[in-house]
Amino acid sequence: MSEPHGLYVHVPFCVKKCAYCDFYSTSDLTLTNSFVAALLKEMKLRSFKDRCIDTIYFGGGTPSVLTARQMERILSGIHDFAPVSPLLEVTMEVNPGTVGGTYLADVYSLGVNRLNIGVQSFGDEKLKFLGRIHNSEDAVKALEDARRAGFENIGLDLMFGVPHEMPEQWRKDMDTAFSFLPEHLSCYMLTYEPDTPLDNTRRAGGVIPLEDEKVADLFTFTSRYAGQLGYDHYEVSNFAKKKSCQSRHNKKYWSGVPYTGFGPAAHSFDGTTRFWNHRDVIKYIHHLEKAELPVLEQEFLTREQVLMERVMLGLRTFEGLDISAFEQIAGQPFEQQFQAVPGRVEELGWGGISQGRFSLNLGGMVYLDTVVEWFVEKIV
Ligand code: SF4
Repeated sequence: MSEPHGLYVHVPFCVKKCAYCDFYSTSDLTLTNSFVAALLKEMKLRSFKDRCIDTIYFGGGTPSVLTARQMERILSGIHDFAPVSPLLEVTMEVNPGTVGGTYLADVYSLGVNRLNIGVQSFGDEKLKFLGRIHNSEDAVKALEDARRAGFENIGLDLMFGVPHEMPEQWRKDMDTAFSFLPEHLSCYMLTYEPDTPLDNTRRAGGVIPLEDEKVADLFTFTSRYAGQLGYDHYEVSNFAKKKSCQSRHNKKYWSGVPYTGFGPAAHSFDGTTRFWNHRDVIKYIHHLEKAELPVLEQEFLTREQVLMERVMLGLRTFEGLDISAFEQIAGQPFEQQFQAVPGRVEELGWGGISQGRFSLNLGGMVYLDTVVEWFVEKIV
């Protein structure tokens, strides 16, 4: 049997679209039953028995709009689809506005053992600005309910860098988050994705983004503060209380190993080819009703594309890029491929080579996009 494999399930429903979000989702919740039926068909059509599943990630959208019964059907479908590891990590993203104590206890008893709670903030004004459906009280209740339900691996998502955000305000959010002793924390910088309501407001002059330097200061503060409290900053946006609490599923993406995605807009990668499903849930369902795979497109990754992905994803992690694995694909030494770039990063004090890996430090992570650009220019 080959390497343990990761499954991603995209649940394309949200009660209401958040102002900043450009992930695919619909608020037509009448489609959830047809979606689950289609998902099970997709699994059946793509069934494989030669790979053992060791991580499952329910993302979205808002997976917690599904009922516990629907989650049960999907999880049992996965067990029919392929063998699963006894060390299975099952992560579910939940929105505090959609869960209660009974629901969380139900999904826990179904085998979900890692919860990612989309808190974003404990400040009601900030939540309102972001267009979230929940308030701070809902977030606190979801965290308390999750512990009561038995979850021992809880992650929180927070967002920073909203207009006018002061370091004290952000620190307050972090303090409240840490008071729940989460095993994992993801802190995302607010971005203005094209065509989102938030970006449209920005373009119309209704919102002035926080200055880049202030956002960078908040990022640096986040890392240092989490570090003081014993959290390891292991990826640009992610922190874990200990190594065993890191997201095993997401680490697969960052290290470039194959994975399989189910559901509308889900991407899969088999090591050489990437393919992705129709975004539209109705189209997705129609294809599966006709027993057709809902694949919209596929692309064979060229050597250059694989190298670019390795750089882009590897540099996001503090572990960094595995130089010998990179050289095997590149067919030439790292120094020859990138010439003066690694030295330039080192001279700036942003990172360097250690134990066979090239990685950025906190100072370098602030300029991650720029550094990635320098590396990518030497590949294309
Ligand atoms: S709940 Fe999550 S997926 Fe849904 S719109 Fe908001 S941010 Fe996007």
